[in-house]
Amino acid sequence: MSRTIQAPRGTFDVLGEQALARERLEADARRILERAGYSRIETPTFEATELFARGVGESTDVVQKEMYTFADDGDQSYTLRPEGTAPVCRAYLEHGMHKLPQPVKLWYLSSFFRRERPQAGRYRQFWQVGAEAIGSDDPAVDAEIVLLLAELLEAVGTKGVRLRIGSLGSPEARVAYREQLQGYLRAHEAELSAEVVSRIDLNPLRAFDADHPGTRRVMERAPRLLDALAPEDAEHFAEVLAFLDAAGLAHEVDTTLVRGLDYYTRTVFEFTSDALGAQSGVGGGGRYDGLIEQIGGPHTPGMGFAAGVERMLMAAGAQPTAPVPLDLYVAYAGASHRAAAFRLAADARRAGHAARLELGGRSLKGQLKQADRSGARYVAILGDEGTSLKDMETGEQRTVEPDTVMHHIRGDL
Ligand code: AMP
Repeated sequence: MSRTIQAPRGTFDVLGEQALARERLEADARRILERAGYSRIETPTFEATELFARGVGESTDVVQKEMYTFADDGDQSYTLRPEGTAPVCRAYLEHGMHKLPQPVKLWYLSSFFRRERPQAGRYRQFWQVGAEAIGSDDPAVDAEIVLLLAELLEAVGTKGVRLRIGSLGSPEARVAYREQLQGYLRAHEAELSAEVVSRIDLNPLRAFDADHPGTRRVMERAPRLLDALAPEDAEHFAEVLAFLDAAGLAHEVDTTLVRGLDYYTRTVFEFTSDALGAQSGVGGGGRYDGLIEQIGGPHTPGMGFAAGVERMLMAAGAQPTAPVPLDLYVAYAGASHRAAAFRLAADARRAGHAARLELGGRSLKGQLKQADRSGARYVAILGDEGTSLKDMETGEQRTVEPDTVMHHIRGDL
């Protein structure tokens, strides 16, 4: 026998209960986001590599080592999308959405691809629900995005949720702060992990993310970006927090919050769940006022969130799922009744009932056992003596005319 083939490392199949849970999550997302004026967008699974290199940032982990990139059309380089914001901004530009009333509000539920080390809650193909509001820098937009994700997490039943929020300010303030932080890190090089030292030039802010104890000690006393914000950015952040307070959403201001993607400006936020292990982030996002310019458009502010479908469901735990109620189970005694049974089940479904036919080649006795297990409300039995219909709720069984089964089910007879 030849070797069986398995799904690639870091990918998974969605089966049974999980499929139902994911459908419910999608319905929750649609309800919450469309009520707030977000309309669905689906972008291609792959894009020009340059979109992510320019949009997400050359120095990020995602672009440096996690992208699935391939060549096509001669020397054109494409990449399986590792995130949703840059593609949505590309679509905003490509479809001239700046002509629509701003902000343009879009949401998606799609799969994304990152070559990460697989572990619990970290996959190479995973799904995210995301929302983007493009074309306004009003702090109310920031607060709305945060609030909508909070609502989604509540609807999904994600447990032990904590919200941290910060501000990265403007790119100019960040450049000045970056230099200050680089100076501080160089002065403490001996105490830092080798990885952090190797990235002082490229991405010093990531030092706040490190687990290394020496680095953590150094970072406790490091200068904070939040203290270096320009007055208008500090004001913007204060207004975002005031809106969250007005909406009654609990949050912690975190001066060390950095996110893995380069495009963020001003507001950044993250929801984590105590119910998860090391990969505790369920979703987050922020403002990306420079992104559209990065990818060749005019200056256009934007704000969004992305939340991991698998993480949200993991942190929600198993939710009871009600099986689809079965109206009719069609059983038959002997092969000569198969065609009539097949037709009855098909007719019942066409008439809008949930109906199932015996397909496992079981004896009549076996079929009736199956019918019982299936929780069907009615069982029709086709045999030499005609058709009988059993009401599984009352236990009553009677002989009926074959073409009246549907009327009986509907209670017309
Ligand atoms: P990010 O786009 O990195 O800000 O991620 C947003 C959310 O997507 C995270 O909070 C996770 O819930 C989820 N996520 C990111 N990367 C992965 C992954 N490799 N596997 C599963 N979920 C992920």
